[in-house]
Amino acid sequence: MTDADSDDRRLPAARPDGGTASDEVTLDPWGSATVSDYRKLFEQFGIEAFETVLNEVPNPHYLMRRGVIFGHRGYDAVAAAMRHDEPFAALSGFMPTGDPHIGHKLVFDELIWHQQQGGDAYALIADLEAHSARGLSWAEIDEHARDYVLSLLALGFDPEDGELYRQSRNRTVQDLAFELGAEANVSELQAIYDFDGKTDISHMQSVVTQMADILYPQLDEPKPTVIPVGPDQDPHVRLARDLAARVRYFGVTEAYASFEADPAERAVIAEAYRELRAETADDGQVRCGDAAEYLAETTAVGEPAVRERAQTLLREAGKEPLRPRVRVVDRNATEAAFEALIEAIDGEKRVYEAHIDAFDLDREAVEELAREVELAHGGYGFQPPVSIYHRFMTGLTGGKMSSSVPASHISLLDDPEEGAEKVRAATTGGRETAAKQRELGGRADECPVYELYAYLLAGPDDEFAKRVYDECVGGERLCGDCKEQAAQLMETFLEEHQQKRAEWADRLDELEIEFDTDR
Ligand code: SF4
Repeated sequence: MTDADSDDRRLPAARPDGGTASDEVTLDPWGSATVSDYRKLFEQFGIEAFETVLNEVPNPHYLMRRGVIFGHRGYDAVAAAMRHDEPFAALSGFMPTGDPHIGHKLVFDELIWHQQQGGDAYALIADLEAHSARGLSWAEIDEHARDYVLSLLALGFDPEDGELYRQSRNRTVQDLAFELGAEANVSELQAIYDFDGKTDISHMQSVVTQMADILYPQLDEPKPTVIPVGPDQDPHVRLARDLAARVRYFGVTEAYASFEADPAERAVIAEAYRELRAETADDGQVRCGDAAEYLAETTAVGEPAVRERAQTLLREAGKEPLRPRVRVVDRNATEAAFEALIEAIDGEKRVYEAHIDAFDLDREAVEELAREVELAHGGYGFQPPVSIYHRFMTGLTGGKMSSSVPASHISLLDDPEEGAEKVRAATTGGRETAAKQRELGGRADECPVYELYAYLLAGPDDEFAKRVYDECVGGERLCGDCKEQAAQLMETFLEEHQQKRAEWADRLDELEIEFDTDR
């Protein structure tokens, strides 16, 4: 796979980041949703560029092809499940704080697409979060919940095949939240979410509830599960990945000798082992002490401080042979599960008080055994949840799209003509005069109207999106006509969407989910 290949499959998306604004990137789930520079998220938080997995996805969605979905954590696992026809799931949640708008449509579409690719799809109404973190009344929450669900259904979510629920009504989620809460403490939530002594307990409970939401699809059976969200939700995803590992019975790592080493030390020891192994006769043994000496004489391996620590460990182990092995550490296993895993490991093994070293199996095989034993003994066996992140849409009036500024966004409930008017009134990336536009071309990359085409109006039609882009930057497209075309497409979209919503509104009682909160 070359860069050129992946570029071929990408269309220009509007890039509101431009890399200009402030250097500060914060990810705050309850703050304002702006990200000045998406590239910083890669370096600062370890979110990976979506391009790195795009070619592994069998039929990438247009939001993936156009770079609207720009980042991920661990999506490789979901892409692999799709390719091999193995089970996978997608889940996202919506805080019912206002009308669903075209920004939410991105997430609805992502869920629906994963469902159409064969995944188990889940959508939840985060009513506990809306009540505790945003202070909405139950009556407001009920009304908005209904609106979110209607739009999701109108866009194609299949409620027979997928699951819709409200956090407050899902007893299984509540129970799981309770269990996960036992693995997290207040200091940790403070550090992650900037909570302080005044943060109320219900707000914290909504955090563990979200953790349970994220892991809920894996209660039937562990499977790759993607959480499509905006990057503001990344702190939640990181915590969920941590908790998923913390409740596991066993942790699987690699080791070279009986002592414990951290990942950096292990890398240095691995390097020393490889070097010495190559110099040693086939039947000879590499000893820990030899590796300590080797490291004392080189500056080429690892950071000095790490090299120092690795040397100490190796020197203390002295004559012990250095041999690669897979190590299983007991985290939460029951005694019976620990015994069963010892039994299940084939070939040479060594059993210690709280870990087992396996010499003849590779890491993947041991991980699989550990999960099987865990499941057989009542554990969850969770896989780390996966995420994908989409760009936030720019507001139609420039700046950010805000639910509290009606002209900045198009609600899925807007009267179609009114929606079209908002498009006609939108800020553009056009030049001051038509003559200049013909000469210099428009700035589609900075144009909220181009964004509408790329994110929504062009639908899956890449050629159309590309034509708009090329005509704009080539100076053949003028903003007046361009906006008129977009306005008409928006009007048609809203009409059709609302027609489908009305059809579903008559059938809502077929669903399991309730919209009347009795509290
Ligand atoms: Fe935006 Fe269209 Fe004008 Fe280009 S021609 S700047 S895409 S409104």
